[in-house]
Amino acid sequence: MGIQPVNLPSRSDEIPSELGGLRMTKQRKEVYGVLLDQRDHPTAQDVFLRAKERMPSISLATVYNCLEALVGHELVKQVNFDRSPSRYCPNLEEHVHFQDEATGQIHDVVFKEGVRLEDFLDLPQGVEVRELELTLKGIMPGSN
Ligand SMILES: [Zn+2]
Repeated sequence: MGIQPVNLPSRSDEIPSELGGLRMTKQRKEVYGVLLDQRDHPTAQDVFLRAKERMPSISLATVYNCLEALVGHELVKQVNFDRSPSRYCPNLEEHVHFQDEATGQIHDVVFKEGVRLEDFLDLPQGVEVRELELTLKGIMPGSN
């Protein structure tokens, strides 16, 4: 399920000059850093506004290009909910998304340890799952 590049950075100040075969230009570092530093599944517009605070010269078009390159090199996941704008997630671990209907916030949810898809999905015999995209919606306790 996707290529997991080794030694992925967890914060913006750990981004190397090359990652997963992608040269990390100043702009790409900035965009990737925005995603690493605040993992709330922002839209491209959100990323643009945050990147602009640190790099005022960056344009929305550049942000889109950077996101496309990061997604293309499987460093970032593009997440689509209904018909709303795509959101971006730097978490490459196997996970699903839970959207809080009250706040619209999206949370990463991982499988319980040791649980595999085959344990709770009635998959046809011999199926090889290559990609997982699952979105849950509901109410998070404590959110009004
Ligand atoms: Zn996610």
